[in-house]
Amino acid sequence: MSASLRNASLRQLAFLAGGFVALICVALLTLSSLRELGLRHEALKAAEVDVANIAQSLVQHADDSFELADSLVIGLVHRLETDGIGPGAVQRLRDDIDLRKGTMGRVRALFVYDAAGRWLATSESVNPALFNNSDRDYFKQHRASPDKGLLVGSPIRSRSGGQWVITASRRFDHPDGSFAGVVLATIDASYFANFYKRFDLGPTGVINLIDKSGIILARSVDNETSVGRDISSTPLIRDMDARRPAGLYYFRSPFDQTMRLSYYRLSERFPLLVLATEAKDEVLAPWRQEAIIRMALVLGLVALIASTGIYLVRQLLKGQRVAAVLAAKEADFRLLAEESSDMVMRIGFDERVIYVSPSCVRLLGWSAEQLCGTLALAGVNDEDLPHVRETVRALKEGEIEETRLVYRTRHRQGGEIWLETALRATRDPKTGKVNGVVAISRDMTEHKDLQERLATLATRDGLTGLANRRHFDDMLQQEWRRAERDGNPVSLVMMDVDNFKKFNDQYGHQAGDTCLKAVAKAIAAEARRPADLAARYGGEEFVLLLPNTDEVGCTLVAERIRAALEALKLPHALNPPTKRVTMSIDGATGWPNAETQGNHPSLIAAADRALYAAKHAGRDRFVMSGQVVAWRDADSA
Ligand code: GH3
Ligand code: MG
Ligand code: MG
Repeated sequence: MSASLRNASLRQLAFLAGGFVALICVALLTLSSLRELGLRHEALKAAEVDVANIAQSLVQHADDSFELADSLVIGLVHRLETDGIGPGAVQRLRDDIDLRKGTMGRVRALFVYDAAGRWLATSESVNPALFNNSDRDYFKQHRASPDKGLLVGSPIRSRSGGQWVITASRRFDHPDGSFAGVVLATIDASYFANFYKRFDLGPTGVINLIDKSGIILARSVDNETSVGRDISSTPLIRDMDARRPAGLYYFRSPFDQTMRLSYYRLSERFPLLVLATEAKDEVLAPWRQEAIIRMALVLGLVALIASTGIYLVRQLLKGQRVAAVLAAKEADFRLLAEESSDMVMRIGFDERVIYVSPSCVRLLGWSAEQLCGTLALAGVNDEDLPHVRETVRALKEGEIEETRLVYRTRHRQGGEIWLETALRATRDPKTGKVNGVVAISRDMTEHKDLQERLATLATRDGLTGLANRRHFDDMLQQEWRRAERDGNPVSLVMMDVDNFKKFNDQYGHQAGDTCLKAVAKAIAAEARRPADLAARYGGEEFVLLLPNTDEVGCTLVAERIRAALEALKLPHALNPPTKRVTMSIDGATGWPNAETQGNHPSLIAAADRALYAAKHAGRDRFVMSGQVVAWRDADSA
């Protein structure tokens, strides 16, 4: 999968997760809100049923009350119309009413007025002669109307007791049908009010008994101040004709301005209605209290889910950013690796190639595909392998972080190349443990060849190919020290071509060079042990260093060289008597010890002396130095 594709799908995943969490939160909130609305509705419904039941039964109660009053009134009307209002009849009526006094129940009092409003009889314990009720509305209405039906009047203050009373009255007539008077029964408004108080509608519940014209007849709360109040302008009463006889009714109370849930019920027999109400807030208070706790819990849960979701989405987006950065890094690495002329190789912990840049074809002859999966150290030269292996081990075990190596490795087309490799341990970004090695290699073959040539130039003599004077000096010093330590002898054979000046004169300088080369070759052939070193000491002077060789050995080698030169039979006309190229040869053997420390020049001095002796003795000979070691005597020898 490409990096951009991987990023896109990660981003999509983050959006998906975010959307899912948001959906869960919205669903939780919606379901909880719906449930709360349902519970709220249930609470209202229950209250509605309560007020409806109460209104229903209290209308029945009001009907019963007025029916009772009316039956008393009807009884008196009948009696008055039958017996008339003569003095005897009135006295009997008074006695009768007195008898009934104790059995009237909720009916407070009975009154009989004549056509002029004078009190004829009453159940109240007052003197009827003192009062006249012709000014009362109900009286005026009965007098004006021939209707003999029951009239439920507006509440009035009782003349006899002073309290609020509700009146139920009928007119009675003379036998000729003319107005004879009024029979009136009263019920205390407080009777209804006290009765209504028995019904529990909560602290804000109110029950009203209302006259159809909108006058309050009784009220369960504040009865004294409410009775007689006109509420005909309220929509309930105003539109009563259009209303059903009973129903739910929500309104704002004109008394305390609270929103009220109510049920009204019209009486079927009397122009009355009962209105039972509760404050809506009060009805909903228990639900509201619980709903607040439940919603707080739900909101807490939603907040928890949302914050967890946000955290997860953030982590995902962060992961996506990290992945993008890693992908960019990877791309950069590949670009650098693939464009580089150096060979970049990633090696796993198992030392197998995980990745190698294309320049491996140029360096090793193998393609990247061929190398991937193979052992990285497979082609390393056997001599270099232990060191390379040890270095890789140290990198893997964290002993070193990075290093540089120069070693030989095989090329596919045969032959070896020199590689200079920078190695660095790679670590797992999560665990921090070493998980492999990155190797950046450069072909050092040409450089190495040059190095070797330079090294050769520094130690070799250009003409003869033997060691040069400086190298000989180094080696002599080295071998002298070794001999000092080991207690072995060191011998030196010094050679000088005889009359070589004349050779040049005779045959030319170039022939002289050729001659020197031939002599050098002969000498080199006699340097048979690995430690033997043949060197050109100067112009036509040669030296052969023979470590671990005593006088006998030295003499032997010197003789062999002389014989070898003789065998070459190089012509030299000006070198009598042989007229061949000859050399004066000398030998010197030293036995280095603690006393001769670093005193190798004494060996050369001794050889020099012997050579001088050989020249003087007539050239073409070998002289073995007799006394070598005593450097102090060298000058005087
Ligand atoms: P002797 O027998 O006393 O050694 O006499 P000689 O002529 O060999 O000694 P001398 O030291 O007088 O001369 C050495 C000569 O060797 C001088 C020089 O021309 C010659 N010579 C030194 N180096 C080279 C060289 O590299 N090539 C050639 N062709 N001649 C050289
Ligand atoms: Mg010489
Ligand atoms: Mg010479």
